[in-house]
Parts: sequence; structure tokens; C-alpha cells
Amino acid sequence: MNFNNNEWFNVNEFKDGVWFISDKTGVNCFLVEGETKSLLIDTGWGLANIGELVGSLTSLPVNVVFTHGHPDHVNGAFQFSDLYIKSEDKKLMEMFYVKETREQIINRFKDILSSDFSIDDWVNAQITKPSHVSDGYIFDLGNRKLRVIECPGHTAGSICLLDTKDDILFSGDSLLAKPVLMNLETSLGLKTYLKSIEYVNSFADDFNIILSGHDEKPVDPIVMEELISGVSDIIQGKIEGKVEKTRFGDALQYNFEHTAINYNEDSI
Ligand SMILES: [Zn+2]
Repeated sequence: MNFNNNEWFNVNEFKDGVWFISDKTGVNCFLVEGETKSLLIDTGWGLANIGELVGSLTSLPVNVVFTHGHPDHVNGAFQFSDLYIKSEDKKLMEMFYVKETREQIINRFKDILSSDFSIDDWVNAQITKPSHVSDGYIFDLGNRKLRVIECPGHTAGSICLLDTKDDILFSGDSLLAKPVLMNLETSLGLKTYLKSIEYVNSFADDFNIILSGHDEKPVDPIVMEELISGVSDIIQGKIEGKVEKTRFGDALQYNFEHTAINYNEDSI
């Protein structure tokens, strides 16, 4: 497979040993390096060579963990061998390695792929069997530990990762400054999501910045407080979103000051 990495990725060393990797479709991955191992958080679509990029940033062995099983986070998994996901999203991830599903996905990107990109190779790519992580699992990278915090809601197997060395929460699609999507087929109800973000909030003293799966910049943890009180108000019927047309059909959208949530009547 040939890729043109320079046009696809934007890489910033956010802190010493923490790289913020964003792609041209608006998806973020993060590489975190310890003294003995590195951890890649999500892989993006795999439409450029993230394996090669990661290899140029770290010479240590790389584990890959997925914040959840959606295709924009797992479709580059085939470029790595040590994969970790929460078991509830394993099936979802595997669905995005079914040839027919990948053919549909790649159609959306035909216009932005580099001319030497091999669609056939991408469509037929396979992954190694992922290991499972659950709440409390620690990735010990050597002088840097990341703890798994379960956060079911956006998907059943969504997780956040807490880096206690640099006080960062990697939130995937569970906490964003953009709308949190709770209107998807794979989403659980708002009540489950509320419980989850209250649980994440119990670690609030341990981080001062959130790096999400789709925001261009670090996110202020205030989004967590806004979502906790806002989602609680929606559940209690005190406030209600307005109907918006989204890529995933009509949804109710409620805009808070620093974030927003999309949901449906039947996903409360
Ligand atoms: Zn997602």
C-alpha cells in the first residue's frame, strides 16, 4: 500500500512524549511514550500509513488501544499487531473488517485518496485478534501509566484513558467540545451515559485537560460539568433539544456553552 503521509496527517508534540496526530478528515489519534513502551490511542481510518508515522516518532514497542469500535477509530488497526479494546465493542470493530462494509466506507473517500493508494489492499485488510481491557486496566509504559476508565454511552465499549503523569484524559468520542453523538444505532441511552460521565468525573482531580477524538484543540474539562448537569436536565424533562438534520439522520441537539449533545426521544 502506498500513502502520502504528509498531506494526510498533522502531528504536534503536545507534551514531551505525547503526540497529537490529527488527520484531514477530522479524526485524532494520540501517541504516548513511556520509558519501555508506547501506546497509540486509536488509529484513524488507516487511509494513510499511520504505522510508518508512529515508527518515525517512537522506537519502543507499540500497544494500540481503541477508545471505542467506530470505523474512524479502528480502521487503521490492520497496521499494528498489539491491539486492545473493551470487549463490548469487539464485535463492532470486527464489523468494520468485513469486506462489504469496508467497500462502502472507502467509497466516501475516493476523491481524497492519493492516486497510488491501493483500495483493494485496504478493503481486504485483516486484523490480529485484539486483547480485552476493562475498567481499571493499567497500561504501564515505564515511568508513565495510563488507566482505563469505562464510559459506556456513545458505544457500549467506550473508554477514556487517564494519563496521570501529564494529567490528561483521552476521551475518544465520550467527551467533546463538538456534539457528543448519542443518536447512533450503537449508542446506549442518556441515562447510561450520564452515569458514565459522573464516573469519569470522579477522577476530575487527576486531569486538567481533555484530548478528544475529534476536537482540533485540547478541551476544557468544563464540558464534563456542562454535560453532567445538561444531560440530567434533559432526562428530567427540564430542557429539550431542537431537531437538527445530521449525517446520521434527524436528531435532537442541545447546545451548551462549551459543548453539545445529539440524542433521540427514544435514546433517553
Ligand atoms: Zn464514535
